[in-house]
Amino acid sequence: MKYTQQQYLESGFYSDDDIENYKAKIVKCRKEHKCVSGCEVIIKIGEPAFYESGFLEGKPVSAYTCLPCIDAHLDRVNGVYELEAPKWSTNETEKS
Ligand SMILES: [Zn+2]
Repeated sequence: MKYTQQQYLESGFYSDDDIENYKAKIVKCRKEHKCVSGCEVIIKIGEPAFYESGFLEGKPVSAYTCLPCIDAHLDRVNGVYELEAPKWSTNETEKS
């Protein structure tokens, strides 16, 4: 996790949608879930995910998003991509 849990919760990933009784939290998956953000990742049992739930037009809805997608979302929100470039200015070594 690159961000604090509070930042994840405040990211409001799906809060643009018309969700009633919207709740968001970081959970450990008890079942496998496909990330809803379109990255096609299966979040495995025991792995953390960003879980959102609520009611859409009276029906219960829920969404699991993998943390890398939330990180990317927060990076965009916070403008980190612009700030981090260029990569070669850091001392980090490449992972192979
Ligand atoms: Zn994802």
